[in-house]
Amino acid sequence: MLKIGCHLSCAKGFLAMGKEAAAIGANTFQFFTRNPRGGKAKELDQEDIAAFLAFWEKEGGFPLLAHAPYTLNACAAEEGIREFARNTMADDLRRLEYLPGSLYNFHPGSHVKQGPEKGIELIAAQLNDLLWPRQATTVLLETMAGKGSETGRSFQELRDIIERVNLSEKLGVCLDTCHVWDGGYDIKDNLEAVLEEFDRVLGLSRLKAIHLNDSMNPLGSRKDRHQKLCQGFLNRETLAHLLQHPALRELPFYLETPNDLAGYAEEIALVKKLAAGPALPL
Ligand code: FE
Ligand code: FE
Ligand code: ZN
Repeated sequence: MLKIGCHLSCAKGFLAMGKEAAAIGANTFQFFTRNPRGGKAKELDQEDIAAFLAFWEKEGGFPLLAHAPYTLNACAAEEGIREFARNTMADDLRRLEYLPGSLYNFHPGSHVKQGPEKGIELIAAQLNDLLWPRQATTVLLETMAGKGSETGRSFQELRDIIERVNLSEKLGVCLDTCHVWDGGYDIKDNLEAVLEEFDRVLGLSRLKAIHLNDSMNPLGSRKDRHQKLCQGFLNRETLAHLLQHPALRELPFYLETPNDLAGYAEEIALVKKLAAGPALPL
């Protein structure tokens, strides 16, 4: 069954997100673990969690996708920023154990002037410090657009990080369609070749979630500006191919398009229609 959802605001708690998701036809959703610009997370409200789990059991399903704050930079040059990244991820991972088998997505980070090699080393070091053998959460590295000194634009960089992590069975990848397009992977005219490369470099079994976004910019622009579905450089055919592809269609898809709830409801309806066919030639 198609798993589709969108990014929701976590400000009002889990039960509120569950109800919002159900109201717009979503059967999964993504949320920030705390203010996306960083800062301290509210203490978990156990009553809210219990009410949400009972409600969501019937409405949607697990896992859900949690997104780390954007300010989390595991490969910052400054020790203080790395320490914030470490403490934030540690706290997020601890809290996520209250939700069944969560996915936790983070931006690998920006190495600033240290170079990609150093970036990769620092990110792997943080993961080696924080992952533990019995955690139920899978930590996802997001494919990045390659803006500035972002680490993780290429599949090879993600592999270089994963290979350095001891508990790499706790790691996966979240593919963002806007980011890979901006990063130079032609999912519009060459989806098959992109997925083959992903499989060769990372293995398709690492792929755990898709961020389904259109892009405001052309292939390889390295900009990272999301657009509403079918209003950017990707089109209906691209979306249909992604949604119907045998290697992808069992994965959860999350919209991160510039929309309010009504806009998301419309896009979710469109996604359901495109996923259902008619089947397109690859
Ligand atoms: Fe992201
Ligand atoms: Fe994304
Ligand atoms: Zn983005």
